[in-house]
Amino acid sequence: MRQSRRLDRIPPYLFAELERKIALKREQGVDVISLGIGDPDIPTPEPVVAALAEAARDPSTHQYPSNRGRPEFREAVAGFYARRFGVELDPATEVIPALGAKECIFNLNLAFLDEGDAALASDPGYPVYTGGPVLAGAEAVLLPLRADAGFAPDFDAVGADDWARARLMFLNYPNNPTGAILPDGVFEHAIELAHEHDVLAVHDASYTETTFDGYVAPSFLETPGARDVGVEVFSLSKGWSMTGWRTAAIVGNAAAIESYWRLKSNIDSGMFEAVQLATAAALDRSEDTPRETSAVYQRRRDLVCDALREIGVGVTPPKGTIYIWAPVPQGHTSASYCELVLEESGVVLSPGGAYGPNGEGFFRISLTVPDDRLAEAVERLRSSLGG
Ligand SMILES: *Cc1c(COP(=O)(O)O)cnc(C)c1O
Repeated sequence: MRQSRRLDRIPPYLFAELERKIALKREQGVDVISLGIGDPDIPTPEPVVAALAEAARDPSTHQYPSNRGRPEFREAVAGFYARRFGVELDPATEVIPALGAKECIFNLNLAFLDEGDAALASDPGYPVYTGGPVLAGAEAVLLPLRADAGFAPDFDAVGADDWARARLMFLNYPNNPTGAILPDGVFEHAIELAHEHDVLAVHDASYTETTFDGYVAPSFLETPGARDVGVEVFSLSKGWSMTGWRTAAIVGNAAAIESYWRLKSNIDSGMFEAVQLATAAALDRSEDTPRETSAVYQRRRDLVCDALREIGVGVTPPKGTIYIWAPVPQGHTSASYCELVLEESGVVLSPGGAYGPNGEGFFRISLTVPDDRLAEAVERLRSSLGG
């Protein structure tokens, strides 16, 4: 048996590796605390679970769903965008469901890239921005995020040849893994460049609802001209603690959404309609949930940042996301530091280098573990690494 060359070209998925390491430690009897994967420990809000249960009892949800989504889903997304962002969407042409942002981002690569084309992928960034183009038979060109510019993309670092091949550009604010919020002017600049080079701009809005200290994140579609050149992928995974449900929506440019739909109708058969109805319930009736969960993460953020400062790690408390991004101490690489921490304290951190070459020299902590476990992890970091 021989797997495809395409598959040979991508590294194993980051967290698949981490999970293996954790399992090994646990077999050795270590009480491992994983601050690696960003997967909310908070349950999905009860009204959303109740809406799913009710919808699952309705036989009209039991057949193949339509890939365009039920009207209830599309209207709920449009209603949310109008109230939350002041963005008007046409539910008939500018919104369709996605089986999570990950599926959507991956499939956009298949829908928009041919051999020889490239996607511009934020570095450091979510691994699908680089794995997706490669699996689609194209290439990823790294778009470095500059720490000294608030993690704004350095568009000038992309050469003329790469701009000529680029068909897609992936942006993400609030940002995973850096925790950065949108720096001034980035969306405006991206829209100009997308026009100039005929690139579809894709904004990954996985964390617009997870913000701290009163910061309110914008939608990409609030920026004038965004809809002419771009789409936004809005996920409920983090804001409503629904990672297991696989629910998101792609919104924005109608022609791009049509291409995505055309591709998808050949790949999967859409989102379980009971999940679509539960998603509509989350957006219509659990609008306060993200603010409540953000308060939990904000408290955890403070706990972790205080402890890191005490052990001499220079860290900037993020204004959004579920991550702390911090520099590794001198004399270490990302990987060597994370190995050391795992050995000394049984705490799993994500090495920054795994998110791209520009992530080297940093590590990422996820805030998605219960408070008592997080406190325990922080205590172990203090005693094994302090002083
Ligand atoms: C968590 C995450 C996703 C995945 O979202 P799903 O909707 O669960 O697929 C996508 N992008 C970023 C940046 C993320 O952190």
